Amino acid sequence: MAAGGRAGDGWRTPFTSDSTGRAAGRFVGHFVGHFVGGEWVAAGSGRTYPDRSPWSGEALCEVAAGNAEDAHRAIAAAHEAFAGWAGEPPRRRQQIFLRAADILESRQREVLDALADETGCGRHFGDVQLDFTLKLLRQAAHLAYRPMGELLPSDVEGTQAMAVRRPVGVVAAIAPWNASLTLAGRAIVGPLALGNTVVLKPSEESPYTGGALWAEILHEAGLPPGALNVVTHASGEAGDIGAAMLESPLVKRINFTGSTPTGRRLAEKAGRQLKRVVLQLSGQNPLIVAGDADVGYAVDAAAYGAFVHQGQVCMCARRIYIERPLAGEFAERFAAKVAALPVGDPRDPETVVGPVINEWALALLDRRVTEAAELGARVLAGGVPQPPCYPATVLTDVPDEAEIAHGETFGPVVILETVGSAEEAVARANRSDLGLVASIITGDSRRGLRLAATLEAGIVHVNDQPVNDEPHMPFGGVKDSGWGRFGLGLAAEEFCELQWITVRDQDRTFPF
Ligand code: ADP
Repeated sequence: MAAGGRAGDGWRTPFTSDSTGRAAGRFVGHFVGHFVGGEWVAAGSGRTYPDRSPWSGEALCEVAAGNAEDAHRAIAAAHEAFAGWAGEPPRRRQQIFLRAADILESRQREVLDALADETGCGRHFGDVQLDFTLKLLRQAAHLAYRPMGELLPSDVEGTQAMAVRRPVGVVAAIAPWNASLTLAGRAIVGPLALGNTVVLKPSEESPYTGGALWAEILHEAGLPPGALNVVTHASGEAGDIGAAMLESPLVKRINFTGSTPTGRRLAEKAGRQLKRVVLQLSGQNPLIVAGDADVGYAVDAAAYGAFVHQGQVCMCARRIYIERPLAGEFAERFAAKVAALPVGDPRDPETVVGPVINEWALALLDRRVTEAAELGARVLAGGVPQPPCYPATVLTDVPDEAEIAHGETFGPVVILETVGSAEEAVARANRSDLGLVASIITGDSRRGLRLAATLEAGIVHVNDQPVNDEPHMPFGGVKDSGWGRFGLGLAAEEFCELQWITVRDQDRTFPF
């Protein structure tokens, strides 16, 4: 195939269209191309890679394996589309997002299937993703009518001053696979709604549900060509595309959701280019159970918070601290509940713990749990892989030197720790370099609020588990969990420039 050429016969939008132009069918068996300037195209090199199901291992579809050149083509298309998209009247931008929500809603069944096939996402978490995404699109529709600035008082007589928000231009979005639909949506919808154009790089694990699907829906909803572009790549080849995004002077902002080590590397390079980034990174999220908590509620909340989507959510509880009087009863009831969580096929509505994303993730979980056990940790539930799944696993007495005691282990494993007081739990939790989410369960919600104020976390929930998000909330972490905030209410801060303008309608006098 000619470098950068239009897609040939085998290349098309992954969903075939019927005579009414409506998308139909499943992505399985189709090619997933890049989406550049409103067209589905092959990688310039012609290379592809197979997108595999984490459950069955089958190759679901072939995907364009892009590189830096493909990224530059997408960036150029986004740059070209910017003036037109930024100049669209708010009414038109609003209509596109409302229509996109309706299209997504009408396709929910097949989107849930695609999430299960491509990422091992079960029915419950698929519904969570859809619900978030529909709200995101409908709330974004109103961003078009948000005030763009304000008039400012000035001491200079005869001067009128204002602060005006302007879209920045091309925004690059780098998204992960775990909540592919929502995290890619969050990365593109706010920036687009404010008048920016976007180049999205989905994870190699979710090129369809975290990439091409968004292009299909927004294109069908009427988004002009070039406003959203998607570039996919094979495993281990993200770096070239990331570098192109960092180095191109046409890219004005980057948002990244993923692990702290990758985010740190990107931020280092972005610093060199003086390019602003929004980073949403790893968490090692504590859930604190106070001695006056209702144990049944705490057990249910902790099981959900630790194991929803097989623990593959950045907000999942990784360490549960229990005040001593409750520790024994909590551990017993929690371990019994966790041991009974059904493991298996993500398409089976009974399944709670589906497959982990790939063999590498499974091997890492196995290695860390085995190492912790060898160092003296006790395994209260799970702990034996059931490929391609890893069962919900509870550890206690984990020594500090165990690898699992540090950083983020992304999967269905949680550590229990008994503490003398919730205040001691806060102090221990704050020793972590990470600070994304924390939660506290207590019979005294005022005490919960006092503890919240002392937790070094971007988000704290009192009397809830940590996995919560809504499109308008200020989502983001502190310390090594990231910079900046996602959330439509905050998008204008992150993805607009604030321009100070003054105007005079009479001459000033100058001293010389
Ligand atoms: P995860 O463990 O959740 O996959 P990563 O940080 O590795 O976390 O991946 C999150 C996103 O970052 C994915 O889209 C991945 O392809 C991308 N990514 C990984 N390495 C790089 C890199 N060097 N430059 C840009 N993006 C990268």
